[in-house]
Amino acid sequence: MEAVLNGTDALMAITNRPEIAFLGGSGSWLEDQNGKRYLDFIQGWAVNCLGHCPREITKAIADQARQLINPSPAFYNQPMIELANLLTDNSVFDRVFFANTGAEANEGAIKLARKWGRLNKDGAFEIITFGHSFHGRTLATMSASGKDGWDVMYAPQVPGFPKADFNDIDSVAALIGPKTVAVMLEPIQGEAGVIPADIDFLRALRTLTEQNQVLLIVDEVQTGMGRTGKLFAYEHSGIAPDIMTLAKGIGGGVPLAALLAKEEICCFEPGDQGGTYNGNPLMCAAGVAVMRCLLLSKFLPSVVAKGQYLSTRLQMLSDRHDLKGERGSGLLRALELHDNQGTDIARQALVRNPTGLLLNAPRPHLLRFMPALNVTEAEIDLMINILDSLLMSERN
Ligand SMILES: *Cc1c(COP(=O)(O)O)cnc(C)c1O
Repeated sequence: MEAVLNGTDALMAITNRPEIAFLGGSGSWLEDQNGKRYLDFIQGWAVNCLGHCPREITKAIADQARQLINPSPAFYNQPMIELANLLTDNSVFDRVFFANTGAEANEGAIKLARKWGRLNKDGAFEIITFGHSFHGRTLATMSASGKDGWDVMYAPQVPGFPKADFNDIDSVAALIGPKTVAVMLEPIQGEAGVIPADIDFLRALRTLTEQNQVLLIVDEVQTGMGRTGKLFAYEHSGIAPDIMTLAKGIGGGVPLAALLAKEEICCFEPGDQGGTYNGNPLMCAAGVAVMRCLLLSKFLPSVVAKGQYLSTRLQMLSDRHDLKGERGSGLLRALELHDNQGTDIARQALVRNPTGLLLNAPRPHLLRFMPALNVTEAEIDLMINILDSLLMSERN
């Protein structure tokens, strides 16, 4: 079965991939070309919210593929309308534009805010974002992001994204001026290492933006779709943002994203925004299947319970190994290590036998956990036991 890895040189080397090709997946488990199994606590980067190949999604995709794959974005289709209504009925937003990736949804949010600024704020276009934030890999979303080194990687940047300090309301207030049209942030900075915005900070931000007639945009690409135990993370603070973006979990594994906005902000006119695949029925059918699962009365309470369980078990592990504690919300969590062993532990977890474990180290001193939202307590226990033995051998 090694033959599956012949020909990898035909791919651009955009990341250092190990000699693994996954051939199958089910729930929290993946299987590689040699039949080795891996417990997956990455789930396609917090994407497979219902785990690998859940019946609800495979059935929705197969049924839709037989019926209609793509009539063109110039026409309505049934899954597009159904998903838009599921999203607006269950959020503070009134209208949806579908896209394919988080970066594309954020590009749409930036365009919508800039158009709104042109119409309502004398051409104001600056969007205040935050240090260490992550909003995607297009030129504008890289410019909006606050990742170290990204300001020069593909210089020149798209202008208009001054950076404030996360959880520091004065740093935002200091940047607001006549050119400011919006503030954009992740309710929990994911790639930065699972750093939650304080609830008081979010509320102060809502007040500050309202006082200055500035839009508030939440990038919920990682935190949305039940990840934190609420359908959307902004709900924890009780604020109502003007614009929200979703991706990752919304497709349950397939490329789907959404830009949502309040009615009074929706100023796109025909011709302003588009994209060949926007609202295509195949992906939207997957999104409908995801939303229906998340809306089942017991689903989100179970995410809260599992998140609490994972939190408790990580804290015990931290105490036992003298680490620096855990943090996060729902099933988006991080464990802080005592030094930069994160990358090494993630690699050991991957190569161990007979069962591998997929873990992510977004920063060298940190491990991030983003399991399927329907992960079981037994799977959490198994992950903790594997991590416990890896931490033990790191010490020796
Ligand atoms: C992953 C992510 C993005 C980018 O999404 P893509 O689908 O990779 O373009 C944007 N914002 C946040 C908060 C993310 O976690």
